[in-house]
Amino acid sequence: MSVPEATSHGYAGAFRVIPAPASWDVTPNLTDYGATRASFTWEAARAGLEGLPGGGLNIAHEALDRHVAAGRGAHVAIRWLARAGDRRDFTYAELSEQANRFANVLANLGVQRGQRVFSLAGRIPELYVAALGTWKYGAVFSPLFSAFGPEPIKQRLAIGDGRVLVTTSALYARKVAGIRAELAGLAHVLVVARDGEEIPAGTLGLDGLLRAASDRFATAATMPADEATIHFTSGTTGKPKGAVHVHEAVVAHHITGSYALDLRPDDIFWCTADPGWVTGTSYGIISPLTHGLTSIVDEAEFDAEHWYQVLDRERVTVWYTAPTAIRMLMRAGADLARSYNLSSLRFAGSVGEPLNPEAVVWGTEALGLPFHDNWWQTETGGIVIANFRAVDIRPGSMGLPLPGFEVGIVDHREDGGVSVIDRPDVDGELAIRPGWPSMFRGYLGDEERYRKAFANGWYLTGDLARRDGDGYYWFVGRADDVIKSSGHLIGPFEVESALLEHVAVAEAGVIGKPDAIAGNIVKAFVSLKPGFEESDALRRELLGHARQRLGAAVAPKEIAFLPALPRTRSGKIMRRLLRAWELGLPEGDLSTLESS
Ligand code: AMP
Repeated sequence: MSVPEATSHGYAGAFRVIPAPASWDVTPNLTDYGATRASFTWEAARAGLEGLPGGGLNIAHEALDRHVAAGRGAHVAIRWLARAGDRRDFTYAELSEQANRFANVLANLGVQRGQRVFSLAGRIPELYVAALGTWKYGAVFSPLFSAFGPEPIKQRLAIGDGRVLVTTSALYARKVAGIRAELAGLAHVLVVARDGEEIPAGTLGLDGLLRAASDRFATAATMPADEATIHFTSGTTGKPKGAVHVHEAVVAHHITGSYALDLRPDDIFWCTADPGWVTGTSYGIISPLTHGLTSIVDEAEFDAEHWYQVLDRERVTVWYTAPTAIRMLMRAGADLARSYNLSSLRFAGSVGEPLNPEAVVWGTEALGLPFHDNWWQTETGGIVIANFRAVDIRPGSMGLPLPGFEVGIVDHREDGGVSVIDRPDVDGELAIRPGWPSMFRGYLGDEERYRKAFANGWYLTGDLARRDGDGYYWFVGRADDVIKSSGHLIGPFEVESALLEHVAVAEAGVIGKPDAIAGNIVKAFVSLKPGFEESDALRRELLGHARQRLGAAVAPKEIAFLPALPRTRSGKIMRRLLRAWELGLPEGDLSTLESS
């Protein structure tokens, strides 16, 4: 190992550079970063896909049909590991037929092209069939987290004007039945019922519909700029944002999967993300299938031993996971990892939250290879900054921009515009030059918010970062108040709104409290209305209320009572100050604090 040159940021000084291996068993897809970046064009990347006659492009065609047409229909596309322990393989031909059936179900129901099909389900095969069938049909797919409670589900279905919802009978009964009357536009609910479960009133059994439908369907002649997918994300204020993605995004999913994850057709690839998060769709469905490889879909939740068993037994070659899970694996100890045969692994990637440099290095001890951190977000649709197999890793850094992406650090000017910071090692907002195919094309129904995400020819990511003298990017923090907890991006406003619905709550302010495993946990501060007294019983009641409304993934884990919450003169809760108090940090500029 070589020692890095001195730089001004702490991490590179504290952790040695992990040099790229000098030789390879399997040559990486990207061997010469500089040369590939210099010669890269998106047109050439598009040529790696087939396209449809007349300039059309459809995600499902690239993911399924072209492999079947090329004689790889018998190759396993998805190996589904059921929670109960059994596994089921879906070949490219089978998955294509199932997707055809789903497209025909939409046609039979009278769904129009461009209408939105939502899913609310765990990682079950029907979710993947619904996604691919929706794209085939030319409708728009929007996956929701099954851990959401009724409130976030209702908001997203309403904003997205969901016409069809694919869910399970259990989730329907628990989370959707009670809000159905408020969703006038939701015409069809298709449920997956297992093991003799009933098909609830007002829904249709998906299994019967699929079986009755034809397995032949001519993929819709979608154009590159046609809407394909909506992913919801959270901002500091207001409702969730529905980021609109188009079919052309598949160009970025494919090429970034090749460069940043080193995917190839003979791989066994495991992306641990749920499709309710953009990673589980871009790299849990689209990218791996466009590469014609075998993708592992594991229905179960995290469990260290189970995960190692999957890596070992399935002979996983490329693994894409997230920091919270890696930290939990670290807690379980490197010995546990070493007790399994992980020799098939060629690459391990991580995304979604800052990956501690210790975790990168731990990978080399436990797995025999480092974790490669990469950065992107819902709005970018695909990986933008990455540590590559063939490039030295600076543990703690997000890596270098992908070929095809111009990334910069910008400073906000008084006039509302931004200026590029040319000097290295200066904190600023991470920005990207628009024009990559998986860039979001709008926030549903919120033109103003979309417009505000751009300035002076840059897309502004909302993240603070710095670039070192060699072009590596380092994450500094969020520029806003959104919270990353176990990989979920949580809007404090959504949590505050749910708490305010409780009869006892006068004010609510929500922050992320640093946590060794989850990155952050959601902590709420509330003040009570006259006549209510703080007590442990009330705290538990509020926690339960929030959990019931929002679901476990979003609800606060801690609640503290305050006599009143700090507000700015304009009446906004000062979350920054709540955070400073919680963490014992300096209070900073209080000039806008409302005096009481
Ligand atoms: P989401 O849109 O839910 O995928 O969340 C995107 C946000 O997660 C980014 O804007 C970052 O704040 C954070 N994030 C994603 N990847 C990384 C990473 N590698 N390092 C640090 N933060 C990350």
